[in-house]
Amino acid sequence: MKQKPKIIVIGSGIVGASIAMSCLNLGADVVVLERDNLGGSASSKSFGWINASFAESTDYFKLRNAAVGKFRNLRKEINLNNYVQWQGTLWWEDSGQELERQFNTLVDRGYNAKILNKNEIKRLEPNLQDIPKEAIFTSLEGAAEADKVALEMLKNLSKKGGKVLSGCTVLGLKFKKACISAVQTNIGEMQCDMVAIATGAATQNGLEGFEWRLPMQNKKGLIVQTAPLPQLINHVLMTNDVHFKQNTDGSFTAGEIYSGDLKKGVVPLDLAYDVLSRISKKLNSSENLTPTNIKIGTRPVPIDGFPVVGEIEGYKGAFIAVMHSGVTLAPLVGELLASEMLQATKSSLLNSFRPIRFSG
Ligand SMILES: Cc1cc2nc3c(=O)[nH]c(=O)nc-3n(C[C@H](O)[C@H](O)[C@H](O)COP(=O)(O)OP(=O)(O)OC[C@H]3O[C@@H](n4cnc5c(N)ncnc54)[C@H](O)[C@@H]3O)c2cc1C
Repeated sequence: MKQKPKIIVIGSGIVGASIAMSCLNLGADVVVLERDNLGGSASSKSFGWINASFAESTDYFKLRNAAVGKFRNLRKEINLNNYVQWQGTLWWEDSGQELERQFNTLVDRGYNAKILNKNEIKRLEPNLQDIPKEAIFTSLEGAAEADKVALEMLKNLSKKGGKVLSGCTVLGLKFKKACISAVQTNIGEMQCDMVAIATGAATQNGLEGFEWRLPMQNKKGLIVQTAPLPQLINHVLMTNDVHFKQNTDGSFTAGEIYSGDLKKGVVPLDLAYDVLSRISKKLNSSENLTPTNIKIGTRPVPIDGFPVVGEIEGYKGAFIAVMHSGVTLAPLVGELLASEMLQATKSSLLNSFRPIRFSG
């Protein structure tokens, strides 16, 4: 009998977990190695909005749009009811001409979007008191608790015979005739036929024995989690000064509106209370928003802002998947990369996002 290809996935965040699950489903022998907590680093500090709304290029929009569709279908494979909701988004980060411009781009791309007026917004969100003149409603979007999705994927993997090791740091890669042969870890060397590097923001540090480097511009962001509250909001709300959503257990997850880096010198505790007070001012409710977890996450951002997915030129059998918006993209990217690794099929959706753009 032909031996199953042995694949090592480095990193157990939502991206690594998705690649691992898809590789196992295609018949590989899969091992996931994680140096820290299972479920990932950025993945456990993410806002988790699943969307294709504001893609910076047409190709990126196509990838994200297909990814939202794939994420919806994931419920046929694993039960994610406790961690994923498809509540749709109300967006008013900008207003006036800028909101209109965003809306027109979405419509030109064929995205499911509508502009709602004050009354229509009030009907969808009766507890909102600070209601904007208009907002863009994208009904097919959702939100996930990304680390919990990753953990469900890893549970599924283990059930089907895959292996998951935490406390295992990959230090280097070994190649024979420019072809991957093993990974070196803090607990010893492990042979493999292929490796998938899903190390998120840490990818910029590189690995021993592997000259190729991914230039990155990682960015930090604050996420605040609250204690559970009665149902107060029904959608992901992307407002002019804060974004927030209510999870299935009633807790709120909130972040600052600015998706760039945290400002220098900011005190996370102060910012977290500020973020919660911005939310309180928007809601007509006497409920107190009590923070239970204040997290500073690092967004994995390749230098040009776009995902990096595929085999690395000159290093046969070494594949990479690093991206921001990894929550939205992980289920699709995992599936596409697995079929590239095991069935040699290359999806045109990934043409613009190949690692070769950073070679040479
Ligand atoms: C504040 C914030 C808000 C965000 N909001 C959104 C959003 O709304 N929507 C969205 O789609 N995306 C969002 N993102 C981005 C998204 O969370 C990330 O793109 C995604 O979680 C990346 O997943 P990952 O598996 O690649 O990385 P991670 O979850 O970081 O996992 C990588 C794992 O690799 C492990 N690792 C690294 N090096 C090694 C090694 N040498 N050996 C072994 N293990 C190693 C790490 O310990 C880590 O657990 C946000 C991110 C942040 C920080």
